[in-house]
Order: sequence, then structure tokens, then C-alpha cells
Amino acid sequence: MGSLNTFPLSYKVQGQRIVIIGGGDEALNKVRLVTKTTAQVVIISRAIEADFSGFEVQVVARGFEPSDLDGAALVFVAEESDDAELAKQEARRRNIPLNVVDVPAECDFYTPSIVERAPLTIAISSEGNAPVLARLVRARIEAMLSPGFGKIARLAGGLRHRVEHLIHDGASRRRFYEALVTSPKVEAAVATSPIAGRFEAEVLLDEHLGLGSGQGVVWLIGAGPGSEDLLTLRAQRLLQEADVIVHDQLVPGVVVDMGRRDAERIDVGKAKGHHSFSQAQINTLIVRLAKEGKRVARLKSGDPMVFGRAGEELSALRKAGIGYTIVPGVSAALAAAADTATPVTLRNVSSGFVMATAHGADDGDLSHWAALAQSGLTLALYMGKSVASDVAKRLVENGASAALPVGIVVNAGRSTMTTYSGNLQSLIEHQPDLAEGPAIIFVGEAIAAGDWGKGAQVAAERFKVA
Ligand code: SAH
Repeated sequence: MGSLNTFPLSYKVQGQRIVIIGGGDEALNKVRLVTKTTAQVVIISRAIEADFSGFEVQVVARGFEPSDLDGAALVFVAEESDDAELAKQEARRRNIPLNVVDVPAECDFYTPSIVERAPLTIAISSEGNAPVLARLVRARIEAMLSPGFGKIARLAGGLRHRVEHLIHDGASRRRFYEALVTSPKVEAAVATSPIAGRFEAEVLLDEHLGLGSGQGVVWLIGAGPGSEDLLTLRAQRLLQEADVIVHDQLVPGVVVDMGRRDAERIDVGKAKGHHSFSQAQINTLIVRLAKEGKRVARLKSGDPMVFGRAGEELSALRKAGIGYTIVPGVSAALAAAADTATPVTLRNVSSGFVMATAHGADDGDLSHWAALAQSGLTLALYMGKSVASDVAKRLVENGASAALPVGIVVNAGRSTMTTYSGNLQSLIEHQPDLAEGPAIIFVGEAIAAGDWGKGAQVAAERFKVA
């Protein structure tokens, strides 16, 4: 004997009525749920208090009559009244499944939490024991499935005969469907129109047929600054699909762990024999993996297009004729701005924001940036931690005011985040003792508008730990 007291099933309500007794918020909650179906929804109550105008429902403002249950597939009772008692009796007499809101003992059925991507439906039930838990699980599943997933499921259904006719090998067919339901291109197209979706699906099918067993693909994915919850939903979804995850050292283990459990993982920042992979080796690696038919998640910290060597990798992929998709991520400077509540553009103060690298910057670059910072633009310097004082010195030598505020954020977007603040002068005088971890150096007037402690506001103050 099993241990479930209820049995999950999908109950047909098409062409029938769902009757809700009650006109308040409880009734509205049920309306939200049942209007996902094609059934005719009828609300009956002497006290219509909630606003049902946004829903396709019939509102009947009067007492309950037994004939209201003619043709009803389900009955919800969402108020306490004589009408409600009558409706319960009538539903039981007619053997129509009944749900009495918040009274489990009187319910014939419970409503599960639903993730709806029609025709795909996922129902999560705790048999009424822990609705909060069910909602939590639901939120996680919602995050895993793109909003357009249902449309893609319908598209896949429409292609079935053609696919069966064209692809005879079962494994190859499965690969095609996997590619179809995970393709960002198809997802974007299907969101525009079913025809556009069909077109992209056909392109994918042609590619699949042309490539026999199916060539792999490379997804350049931005991992964000290093916290799991700063990953985009698309990044998470693709990580779940990847056969192999090729990641940099800057991407923490917790983020890599968001990927499929059985995916192969390659840390190209920390090769077996101590030294890391060269860029050329990484290019060769991702091309080889894709040629083997694998779906490769190339996971990079922050945003892949910002100081991510994406240019080199993309040109290698193009040269090898391998398909790629790029998923943006939260770049470190933006996480740093959020952590310190610093608006990097600020009306009448900073009309722009420059992401630059301090690493290997020559005096030509520095004089250019000094002018930009002086004109009010905010500089975000990447890869400058070890040379922070030197860069400050050279900026001043190239014309930046020594009083320009400076803010440094180490481990932006992570729980270990720390900040330092002051101005160019104080940074020149003291090479600060910064915490372990990557850092963003901000320079510009707008920095003074952030939450940095007092350091950035008091221009002459010494460099200090915020
Ligand atoms: N593509 C990344 C940048 C990679 S270059 C992005 O968009 O963020 C590496 C540099 O990024 C580091 O030297 C450091 O300056 C910065 N960086 C990366 N992660 C960071 C973090 N969590 N906090 C602060 N700086 C970070």
C-alpha cells in the first residue's frame, strides 16, 4: 500500500462550468487558478467585493440556486454563508467534486501549486500539509522553465510527424528535440509568433539533418560576480542542459554547481599541472568539445563580453563553423555599484560610465581616462587591484584632480564584499591593504553619492577601510 491520500491527475474541464461560491479575496485566488483553464467560470455571491474585471468570468450577484450546478465540473466554496451551506449540500448530492477553501476536512480535492506552460503543466501538491513548501518548489521550477516553454512544447508537437519521417534514429531524434527546446533562437522566435518559431525550428532541423549525429554548440554564459542568485534564469537553464561546463577560476564553485550534476567540468583557470590553460588552448578545447557533439557551457565571470576574451573564442568558433549563443551576465562593476548604492551615471554630475582595464594601460590610455574622469564620467577599472596606487598616481599626472573620489569594491556581489574609499590623493599616499579577491576601482565625482562611509565624501580624508 502506498502512502498518498490523494491522487494527482489531470481532470478534463473543457466545455464545462467551474462554479465558485463567494465574492471576496479567497474567491479571487481561486479565479486566478481556474481561469488558466478553458472552462466557463461562474462566480456566485450576494457580496461581490473583489475586483474580477480582469478575468473572463461570469459574475452572478445573487444567492445560490441548485440549478447553478447544472453542467458543473468542479465547485469551490469560498465564503461562509447560508448560500455556501446550500451549495455544499447540492454539490455532494450531485457528486460534483467540492473544495471548501481552508477547510481540508470538507474537501474532496485540493488545488496544487501549478507551473503552467500550456500544454505543459506541472502540479506540486503537499496534500494540504505544507502549502508554503509547495510554493517554494514551484518558484524554483518556474525559474527553470522559460515563459515560452509551452509555446515550444506546442511547436514540438506540431513538428512530430515531420521529425519522425526525417530522423529515424531514436537517439538522434531525442537530440533534435533537446536542441529545439533549449534553443534561445527558437525561444525568441516563438515569443514573436508561431510562424517565426516554426521557421527557426525548420532551420534547426535542416542543421541537424545536415550534420548527421548533430554537432555541438557553445554557449558563452555570463556567471555574474559570483553569487548563485545573481545568475540569470537563462544562464541557469543552459547550465542545466550542458554536457560540459568550461569555467574560469573566477567563477566560484557554488555557481558552477548550478549546472547539471553529471556534466563534465573543466576549470581552465587551474589546469592539472598547476599552470592555467592558455587562451589558444581554451579556443582549441571548446572547438574540439563542440565537434564531438557536446553542448558546451563556457562559463565566464561577470558578463562574457566585458574583459572576457570573448572576441578570441568567438572568432575560433566562427572559423570552425560552430554555432554559439551568448548569455549576458551582471558585470562586476554593476554589482559593485549596487553593493555601494553608487549611481554610476548621475544627473548633473556624471553623464557616462567607462569600463576600462587598469592592467597594462599605457600613459596614452591614462591621459584619456584622466580627461574623462575630470569631465565627470565615472571610471570603473577592472584588473587594477595590485596597481591601484600606481594607476591613481598616473591619473593625477595626466591631469585628473587629486581630490577626485575613489571607491574600491572587493568581492562585489558576494557575501564577502568589502569596500575602501577615499580620493586619488589618499590612494597615492597609501597602497591600501585590500582583502583577498577580485576588485573594481571606481574613480569619479558620482562615487561621492554612494554609501561608502564617510571616506569618499570627505575629499581630504586619508584612505581608510569603510
Ligand atoms: N567579465 C568580467 C570581468 C573579467 S576580468 C565581468 O564582466 O565582470 C577580471 C576582473 O573583473 C577582475 O580583475 C576584477 O577587476 C573584476 N571582477 C570580477 N569579479 C569581481 C567581483 N566579484 N568583484 C570585484 N571585481 C570583480
